[in-house]
Amino acid sequence: MSSGMAACTEYRERLLDHVMGAPPAAELAAHLKSCPACASESKRRQVLGTELDAELRRLANPDAPAYLAARIASHQRPAPAWGARVAIAATLLAVIAVGAWLVNARRESQTAEAAAAISGWRSPTASLLLPPSQPIYKESSHE
Ligand SMILES: [Zn+2]
Repeated sequence: MSSGMAACTEYRERLLDHVMGAPPAAELAAHLKSCPACASESKRRQVLGTELDAELRRLANPDAPAYLAARIASHQRPAPAWGARVAIAATLLAVIAVGAWLVNARRESQTAEAAAAISGWRSPTASLLLPPSQPIYKESSHE
């Protein structure tokens, strides 16, 4: 086995296998214990490997990241709910307006019918109170 920087270079090449999940060989493990530089490099690569793994999992995960899901929830969900509320309110207003119009139209129609009935109706008392000069009483009046 070589020693010094050459050995470290060789071990650091073997670190890749260690980072990818393979347990370090006894020789490499012994070198990592005795060489702070390689041990530090091993930890750095393990951190990078963990970050790479997390990144790969994130990219492979079809589900949106939590922050994106939260953003979608905060922006998209209230919008349809708001729109639905507006649609319901508009529908209710339309129903109320049409209902009020129908009631009003019916009331006006009834009022017109009642007015027509009243205008066409002659009270006998009103006829009796007519002045005698009225033609209708010329025939049957006391005069
Ligand atoms: Zn080393």
